[in-house]
Amino acid sequence: MKHCNFDVVVIGGGHAGAEAADASARLNAKTALITHSKAKIGEMSCNPAIGGLGKGHLVREIDAMDGLMGRVADVAGIQFRLLNRRKGPAVQGPRAQADRQLYRAAMQRELQSRKHLSIIEAEVSDLTLENGMVAGVVLADGSVVRTKHVVLTAGTFLRGVIHIGNETRPGGRIGDKPSIGLAQKIEALELPLGRLKTGTPPRLDGRTIDWDKLERQPGDESPTLFSFLSTEPAAQQIECGITHTNEKTHQIIRENLEKSAMYSGNIEGVGPRYCPSIEDKIVRFSEKPSHQVFLEPECLTDHAIYPNGISTSLPADIQQAYVNSMVGLENAKILQHGYAIEYDYIDPRALSHSLEVKSVKGLYFAGQINGTTGYEEAAAQGLIAGMNAARESQEKEVKILSRSEAYAGVMVDDLVTRGVSEPYRMFTSRAEYRLSLRADNADQRLTGLAIEIGLAGEKRKRAFDEKMTKLSAAIETLSNLRITPFEAARSGIKIKQDGIRRSPEDLLAYPNISFKTISAIWPQLTEIEPEIADQIERDALYANYVERQKEDVAAVQRDEAQAIPGDFNYDSVIGLSNELRSKLQVVKPTTLGHAGRIDGMTPAGLTLILVALKRRNAWNIA
Ligand code: FAD
Repeated sequence: MKHCNFDVVVIGGGHAGAEAADASARLNAKTALITHSKAKIGEMSCNPAIGGLGKGHLVREIDAMDGLMGRVADVAGIQFRLLNRRKGPAVQGPRAQADRQLYRAAMQRELQSRKHLSIIEAEVSDLTLENGMVAGVVLADGSVVRTKHVVLTAGTFLRGVIHIGNETRPGGRIGDKPSIGLAQKIEALELPLGRLKTGTPPRLDGRTIDWDKLERQPGDESPTLFSFLSTEPAAQQIECGITHTNEKTHQIIRENLEKSAMYSGNIEGVGPRYCPSIEDKIVRFSEKPSHQVFLEPECLTDHAIYPNGISTSLPADIQQAYVNSMVGLENAKILQHGYAIEYDYIDPRALSHSLEVKSVKGLYFAGQINGTTGYEEAAAQGLIAGMNAARESQEKEVKILSRSEAYAGVMVDDLVTRGVSEPYRMFTSRAEYRLSLRADNADQRLTGLAIEIGLAGEKRKRAFDEKMTKLSAAIETLSNLRITPFEAARSGIKIKQDGIRRSPEDLLAYPNISFKTISAIWPQLTEIEPEIADQIERDALYANYVERQKEDVAAVQRDEAQAIPGDFNYDSVIGLSNELRSKLQVVKPTTLGHAGRIDGMTPAGLTLILVALKRRNAWNIA
């Protein structure tokens, strides 16, 4: 291959890499996506599903910034379910089971049609640096691709080792080689590396499952899609089956625990707490007589079934035995055995909020390589790293999403300030401002920014402008309407008889009053489109809390913005514990807000730092 120059090179065509390359190219940076196999771009290494609690929020945010994951999942979705439907909209999570072939094909189509993006099939074996800055990447055939900005998204490939029972073999994922050269390079750059692990269940042949014995689970009648641009699912919709582990399953697993790679001491890496293996579940929750197993079709055109809930690293014959112990699976054949994988990750505290490595200019990391788990977490980081690499290449200031603006902001802040001790998964509980960071308002939070910086395409911009125009017109209609409690009671709405006239939004703030109910009082509201009416209903439900949160955010931000100079000497802070002092010296927070999020930081510790900073500033002025 000839030597060539790119503004940004993205290594890896997984979920982080696809989003990074797409975001960079959308910003008109000349971008190369270099990945082992073009045909595997968009591969779902594990569960064929996108979204879920917290994760669905991330997908909506990616979509609001005109990223790919939401649109692609809508094309490939074969069963859509809104999780937590009975709870408030703030914690509901859209989820879709996807056909993995349709998902890959749709992702590849999107990337192939992207201007400014070249896709190169090759292995990157090294990075070149000049004066501590990225200068290019070296491919396995020895050729060099020159660039000053690299986004590394190697997933589980860095020194990946696959385990099935006591068999081990090098691999980035089943059927793929690991990345050794790159891992050595990262080590040589003295970046902090650790080991993590994850696992996947055996895949079953659907033709050998006795579906008649199984409970079935359909998708939602009216599907909640991911993309603000989608209107209905594109693919045929299917049902899943449900079976359960039982005493016999548990006995087989218990008797063979020492043969499991995870329990025999073969694996040192820490695994995902929220996605435990079946071995883990049986040991940790030994009092539970049974665990639910969802049987999810992986594809409309083949017979592979993903048994969700039984990931394992037991030997092949034990996997077969415990699978056959479950109702409906008595004759089930395994198409591909479950396995565990152990891989290197980089301690994300070595990164800044733009996901650039603090000590190597131009090098960004995104995805599983930063200690996260899951497609959605990877994709959201990819978008942030790709956007910032492109902006840096154009000498524009980096864009950082704050904790009060986006779940993606919460995740990056958690990663770079706290680091990880186990694979990091997104949850709604991680977001302190979750009442305002809802999946339904991701476009109102982020599409404006995407338009401003040139990340959003024409179609997105038009759809967003149209929605916002309709929303403002509807709010204008509502703005002149008022009702007394007496009149409300006459319309069947029970509120406190306090004589206070209320607006439609005041009424919608009551959880039991819907837009339909208030349309019975004011018939002109029936003219408002259902999508806009739903948005007004959800915004009004949370309006009071969101107002209060805004005040909290403003108060925190006043002090949060207080800058901490890079040369600030924490030894000068009297009263600070040694533990906090050494953490601060490692993290080197750039603001007081950043310091506040360091694991173990206390309000008293922050006050001490603030006092020391003010004293230093006073001396500097004097
Ligand atoms: P990946 O999707 O792994 O993509 C990495 C890409 O980089 C690949 O395309 C690869 O070919 C390419 N690449 C790597 N090195 C090079 C190189 N040197 N040169 C060129 N290209 C390179 N997530 C969950 O949420 N729950 C689970 O239970 C779960 N279980 C999993 C089980 C297994 C066995 C595996 C492998 C993954 C599992 N995951 C799970 C994780 C999920 O697959 C990842 O979170 C997600 O794919 C990460 O996306 P990524 O883009 O960071 O990396």
